[in-house]
Amino acid sequence: MDTMIESEEASDTLNATDRCDYCGSQAYVWANGVSGDLLFCRHHFLKSEEKIRDWAFEIIDEAYKANQK
Ligand SMILES: [Zn+2]
Repeated sequence: MDTMIESEEASDTLNATDRCDYCGSQAYVWANGVSGDLLFCRHHFLKSEEKIRDWAFEIIDEAYKANQK
């Protein structure tokens, strides 16, 4: 019995159908702030990272997934 059970744990907040709210690219960062939540691609997250970190009280960064195909 060598069946690998891949549990979909932790890092499934974002998936390929999530799109950046700014450009529509695949989103890798989810930020939850006082006025709602936003999705960002890597580019737009880095572009406004300071503002986002100021605004959001919760950020999930799954940019490492960008290296997985
Ligand atoms: Zn974007």
